[in-house]
Amino acid sequence: MTVYNFSAGPGVMPTEVINQIREDLPSYKNSGMSVMEISHRSPLYEDLELEAEQDLRDLMHIGDDYAVLFLQGGGTLQFTSVPLNLATNYHKVRYANSGYFSKKAIEAAKRIQGLDVQVIENDEVGSKLPTIPTTIDDQLDYLYLTTNNTIEGTTYHQAPNVNQPLAVDMSSNILAEPYNVNDFDLIFAGAQKNIGPAGMTVVIVKRGKLVEQQLLSDVMDYRIEDAKHSSFNTPPVFNTYAAGLTFKWLKKFGGVDAIYQQNLEQAAMLYDFLDNSKVFHNDVPLAERSITNPVFKTDSKALDQEFIAQAKEHGLVNLGGHRIVGGMRTSLYNAMPTAGVKKLIEELKQFELTHG
Ligand code: PMP
Repeated sequence: MTVYNFSAGPGVMPTEVINQIREDLPSYKNSGMSVMEISHRSPLYEDLELEAEQDLRDLMHIGDDYAVLFLQGGGTLQFTSVPLNLATNYHKVRYANSGYFSKKAIEAAKRIQGLDVQVIENDEVGSKLPTIPTTIDDQLDYLYLTTNNTIEGTTYHQAPNVNQPLAVDMSSNILAEPYNVNDFDLIFAGAQKNIGPAGMTVVIVKRGKLVEQQLLSDVMDYRIEDAKHSSFNTPPVFNTYAAGLTFKWLKKFGGVDAIYQQNLEQAAMLYDFLDNSKVFHNDVPLAERSITNPVFKTDSKALDQEFIAQAKEHGLVNLGGHRIVGGMRTSLYNAMPTAGVKKLIEELKQFELTHG
């Protein structure tokens, strides 16, 4: 039975990438060593890091005025690293509170002494995302957004049109939707959704925004990591290798614009079913709907659980929503084949026939 993995992360990876890893694993480039064993100071690693970085630059059209870093510590460490590196001028930042992970980022920023952390709450009826005010504050180091809210299934599909430096958590929809890198001072994203195995975090940051300073740890200092090609200390060698394979896979697919079309089609199929369903529903306003993590529910928790269990029996796994919201969540990351989404919709239809 084919298994379709709808996990929110670590999530599905392209079969071609997994197969390539299997082939490469015992001896990387005929070195007689596994990629898991090679030194991060060896040309083998330096080459793969440079190639992965270049491929990501190509995919996202990242100019030389930005550093591209492959770091450890997950998205969570970036909640602290971002303000430490970027809130150096005014010591004042503003966060859009769009859900679970932006709350975590706000909490982390508030722990930094002397940092004024302002929060934009969602006070608009009928909206699931805080509206970004167009008024400009000249004294702000950055405005922070979570582009895609993995748990709530909501997305800022475009950078807000404000003349303000932007720092964004793009963990769950990096490379899934075309954003213009030049709109942002900083983008970070954990790898475990659209890039590869957990353990590596991409940071894309405007070099001109980085100042010389002494942080509590040098591994958090983007300037140092940039100068050392992300190898200030031992980098996540295997993860960067695997990420590199995914970047090649995506390039072969046609790049971000091509995968975006597929992602749009898959999400449209699912939302179309949900909007016409008598049993399942999604409550996110159209413009705010995530194409990456659509969420839905029935009117009964017991029925939700029954559906999740039944789908699992048929190879549709990890459909449970995050514990804080319940219901169902479908993570349609780049590697999710359209066949998986079609099978899910069939499953939903069958369930509706017997439970409607
Ligand atoms: N931000 C977002 C949007 C996420 O979805 C996640 C993880 N699911 C994180 C941050 C936290 O990432 P990590 O677990 O790698 O620290």
